[in-house]
Amino acid sequence: MKAWQFYTLEDWRLEEVPDPKPGPGEVVLRIRVVQPSVTEVIRRNLGPTTGVDKLAALIRDKAPVRLFGHEYAGEVVAVGKGVTTFKQGDRVAAIRSRPPCRQCGFCLSGQEEMCHKGPLVGQEIPGCFAQYAALPVECLMKIPDSVSFQEGATVQPLHTCMASVICANIPIGETIAILGQGIIGTGIMQIARASGAGTIITSDIRDTNIKLSKQLGADHVINASKDDPVAAIRKLTGGTGPTIVFDAASGSPEQGLSGFETFKQAVDLVRDGGRVVQPALVSGPLPVETTQVRMKSIQLIWPGGIPRHYEEHIVHLLATGRLNPKLAINKTVQGIDKVPEAFTITGNKAAYGAINPCQIIMS
Ligand SMILES: [Zn+2]
Repeated sequence: MKAWQFYTLEDWRLEEVPDPKPGPGEVVLRIRVVQPSVTEVIRRNLGPTTGVDKLAALIRDKAPVRLFGHEYAGEVVAVGKGVTTFKQGDRVAAIRSRPPCRQCGFCLSGQEEMCHKGPLVGQEIPGCFAQYAALPVECLMKIPDSVSFQEGATVQPLHTCMASVICANIPIGETIAILGQGIIGTGIMQIARASGAGTIITSDIRDTNIKLSKQLGADHVINASKDDPVAAIRKLTGGTGPTIVFDAASGSPEQGLSGFETFKQAVDLVRDGGRVVQPALVSGPLPVETTQVRMKSIQLIWPGGIPRHYEEHIVHLLATGRLNPKLAINKTVQGIDKVPEAFTITGNKAAYGAINPCQIIMS
């Protein structure tokens, strides 16, 4: 089969390699759709983000390695020893990038979703910028025929959206605000709507994303390039601000992301006693006044892992059309040789008008 192999983070080559065989507890997938995550693009571009040192060590010790590719969907072509929940021909999507280690305190006490010790797909486990991949079954979820492989490849990032909504603990009918309407922000909006949120106010600075937010059912969409979102959202909530604000736009500017402006906005506008949820993998100091956080008695929350039944609920929402990532998938390339092009587009989403990462449709 063909697979992208890394000799350094800059030197990656599409090469012919042996077909994978499933180990115990694994299945082999024929990859049908795969997409780079924004973090993977930053890491490949040697940008400042978490985990780069670990990748450098992995390459130094084991090159060539099959890095990246943990957001994918495909079909099962071979089943390893002990696997009873998947069979040949099943259509599946990635739900997690890390299987549980089965040895740590979390795993042994039934909280596998909190385990951070298992190997990562696209790092210790060869990733899916390849025609086939052997993957642990804990990382996979079956998808019905009503969920396309393209939608399936978004399930792993939608996991973050589900985790964000769960930790926000939204009371039924509560007004919420979501700053940023990319794939994560619009995912949070749709899951929050299906989970009982009342009025949903969103903001973005990009015309494409503002239009998408309206299409997907936001009650009020603030164009933050024209209006001050803090003032506008306060006005819509009778001056007090919403109880729950999601910051789905922040990210370190040196990583080509939008900075922490929306995090500051979220802390400013959340109602006293409210909650700010921040789903991004951010690094560096947070630009907020601790006095402000203390005086407002607000909670700053970063989502963690979620149990399997919530993961099944993501697929259920997709299958029933209540969660629709299709409109956000607006850039695709065809064939495994186009992986570098997909990285370029995903690394420059604004320039290409991409909302979701650029997907690679494997032939
Ligand atoms: Zn563990």
